[in-house]
Amino acid sequence: MQNGKIGVTTENIFPVIKQFLYSDREIFLREIVSNAVDATQKLRTLSSKGEFKGELGDLTVRVTVGKDTITVSDRGLGMTAAEIDKYINQIAFSGANDFLEKYKNEAGAIIGHLGLGFYSAFMVSKKVEIITKSYQEGAQAVKWSCDGSPEFQLTDADKADRGTDIILYIDDDSKEYLQESAIQGLLKKYCRFLPVSIACGKKKEWKDGKEVETDQDNVINNVEPLWTKTPGDLKDEDYKNFYRELYPMQDEPMFWIHLNVDFPFHLTGILYFPKVKSNLDLQKNRIHLYCNQVFVTDNVEGIVPDFMTLLHGVIDSPDIPLNVSRSYLQSDSNVKKISGYITKKVADRLTQIFKNDRKDFESKWDDVKLFINYGMLTEEDFYAKMEKIALMKDTEGKYFTFEEYKKLIEGSQTDKDKNLIYLYATDRETQYSYIEAATSKGYSVLLMDNSLDVAVIGMLEQKFGQNSRFMRVDSDTVDKLIVKDDVKGNSLQDSELRMITKVFGSQMPKIEKADFHVDAQPLGENALPVMITCSEYMRRMKDMAAIQSGMNFYGEMPDMYNVVLNSDHKLIKSVLADAGKECNDQLKPVQDELDALKERQSQLRKEREGKKDDEITAQQKDDMNSVDSQISDKENAISDIYAKYAQGNKVVHELIDLALLQNGMLKGEALAKFIRRSVELI
Ligand code: ADP
Ligand code: MG
Repeated sequence: MQNGKIGVTTENIFPVIKQFLYSDREIFLREIVSNAVDATQKLRTLSSKGEFKGELGDLTVRVTVGKDTITVSDRGLGMTAAEIDKYINQIAFSGANDFLEKYKNEAGAIIGHLGLGFYSAFMVSKKVEIITKSYQEGAQAVKWSCDGSPEFQLTDADKADRGTDIILYIDDDSKEYLQESAIQGLLKKYCRFLPVSIACGKKKEWKDGKEVETDQDNVINNVEPLWTKTPGDLKDEDYKNFYRELYPMQDEPMFWIHLNVDFPFHLTGILYFPKVKSNLDLQKNRIHLYCNQVFVTDNVEGIVPDFMTLLHGVIDSPDIPLNVSRSYLQSDSNVKKISGYITKKVADRLTQIFKNDRKDFESKWDDVKLFINYGMLTEEDFYAKMEKIALMKDTEGKYFTFEEYKKLIEGSQTDKDKNLIYLYATDRETQYSYIEAATSKGYSVLLMDNSLDVAVIGMLEQKFGQNSRFMRVDSDTVDKLIVKDDVKGNSLQDSELRMITKVFGSQMPKIEKADFHVDAQPLGENALPVMITCSEYMRRMKDMAAIQSGMNFYGEMPDMYNVVLNSDHKLIKSVLADAGKECNDQLKPVQDELDALKERQSQLRKEREGKKDDEITAQQKDDMNSVDSQISDKENAISDIYAKYAQGNKVVHELIDLALLQNGMLKGEALAKFIRRSVELI
């Protein structure tokens, strides 16, 4: 019998372990079971080297849940009293290091160095016993016992077979772990791919409508997960099956990458590309990080670039430091290399698909573009790797690389200032007529209908350089989107222009947070009579405001729309002619007065010319003010005449409503009114 003190300097380390060592108490099970697995693997190593000559036999690790205890039993190499003293009593003196030192080359699969494993048992136990017998011939079995104080007892014990039983006497505040189902759940989480069979309880079976226990062991794990196998031996079906094993609820993955490096770090794993249809599908925490087949975490932030967290699968590496903070992780040189390696592998795989089968790549593009775009936006390196293969899609569903697309539009979409204009639409349905206007002019229109595309456009403009610009098809009339020659002058006279813009302007609806500015331009006889556009600049500012805080200023501003009347269109011409006929009698006297006032105004202005403020008499100032206000009265009167005329003109209303309808701005009562009016007109 030996009594002694565990070799730590602090008098009472256990409260510390209990509270601070691990935030997740449940990992005690992972630690104890992985020690059992380590002990088993070590024995296998010794056996293969001929240093252990006995029978290995059944090596299953068994986890048994009793009334007050959880017992983890293995048939690994066991410990002598001296080894207990060395490996258990000296806290944090890990036997794994010794072993690794000695068997550097064979012992690749030792989980040990995760940390202060064994003592995590005290997070949930009031007492822990180790009953163990070394594999060495004639070894004496021993029992170590400790109740959570620094004192322990070590005595001889009876144990027939080699190996170790760890018995945890569960604390009153951890009783939830005394359920077999809870323990099975934890084993499934952490031990699902451990390399030695782990059994807990018996398999269950449905019999006569009841679930009954069979006499077969309930083995928790798959000891040879796919990522540990040689890629050359595997078929597509194997990868798909493994994906289903990992994510039973997911659609089939599109493709995958088998990772396998030995130098300068160890890393294996399989990354799957899921189909990402919308931003809603974006789910992080789908990559599981393992360390020698022990589950560590499903949060790989800091270990792989952010966009990679959209992938699914498994990464297994003993070279990722796991006991450190996330911010430290990002600066760790191994982690940086790992992150770079994975990025490269992913880029290589995508490039390979692109090169081998362009059609196949195109068919997958819509499902991977979110991932690729996200990567290009956030990682400079990844942009550089993708810029030759990333695709753009036009509104007809054709795909182009950046280079191909540039070639395509260079001839037709360069404006008079040598700017290359990329036209795009965000919605094929609602922007249909604008797309049509552009394509019938021989232009190509890109479809950029994903919410990430706002950012993608910004990125591409920056990358493509100064002379490339993106314009949404509905941001201006087609002639102004890409200005070829200096625009031809308006075919209308000033007075006509004033008349037609007032007639229509007076009838624009009051829509909350929307301002309309009416103008007339010759758009050709075949173009629509009225078009509503929203400037690219304003819309972008608003889009940005929507995703970025601190830009509320733009968010608060009303949407400003340009209403363009096509002065070439016969309906606009006939409104103009009719308005002239109907209003001229009323307008004439007002207009005459206005002309006279204007005359007077310019006279007064002339008198003031070159004079300083104090040289102008009070009389002159009063005259000026009075003329100004009379002019604005007359102008209002003219506007009123047009408004009154326009109010009774069904064509004006119909044309405005059609334009609104086309932009999805005609709703509710206004829409009902439009329908009623249209029926009447028919
Ligand atoms: P680590 O696993 O990182 O080495 P632990 O605290 O988990 O640290 O374990 C300390 C040491 O105790 C192990 O390295 C091993 O030598 C020994 N040990 C723990 N559990 C067992 C076991 N079931 N069988 C044999 N040795 C064990
Ligand atoms: Mg351990």
